[in-house]
Amino acid sequence: MNTKRIFTSLVFVVGLVGLQRAEIAAAENAYRGPAVIRTYDYTGIPTHDLARAWDEVQAIFDEAGIAVEWKTCPVTSDGPAVSRPCSEMLQPNEFVLRLVASSSAPVNRRVSLGYTLIDLQSESGPLLMTVFRDLVGTLARDAGANHPSMLGRAIAHELGHLLLGNVMHSDGGLMRPFWSRSEIAHNSRPDWLIRPGQARQMRNRLASRHGT
Ligand SMILES: [Zn+2]
Repeated sequence: MNTKRIFTSLVFVVGLVGLQRAEIAAAENAYRGPAVIRTYDYTGIPTHDLARAWDEVQAIFDEAGIAVEWKTCPVTSDGPAVSRPCSEMLQPNEFVLRLVASSSAPVNRRVSLGYTLIDLQSESGPLLMTVFRDLVGTLARDAGANHPSMLGRAIAHELGHLLLGNVMHSDGGLMRPFWSRSEIAHNSRPDWLIRPGQARQMRNRLASRHGT
């Protein structure tokens, strides 16, 4: 199968994608939302912490004009459990989130908080994001930040990649490639929002997935 899959994470540096005017106009008219996230938690996160993280994700994407809904998917020690509401085939507007613990300790000052798996050959292919809850927790603690909120921001960043369909980063805002402790501690609102051009591109791609 000629499928090219790529991994991306917060530590990769790439450029910002430009948008064509026609793309933007189409996005404004075509977006029908929502993005639905099937969540598989392998870390045993407390329910109220997960709800707080989801609230953060929702707030970020509300600003971007994208509705996000959640499905909590049961897991067992052997992996995903086959039961509703996650046993049915993924819909084009559904994405998969795994919350896991990192398998190894950070070896340098830069750590990857998560990664995305994107099928570049298929607009409607399954899209998976993985976030390392323990590493997010360590970063939040070191910066004196709220852990669930930081988890939500890390999830939102990876979801941003899935909605963009690429590994591109911006030079600021949520989709910037690096998050410093000082930025996290400063908690400046613009640092945690999606730039308007990227938000339009996300709405456009989500609309195209609905149409497939
Ligand atoms: Zn990234």
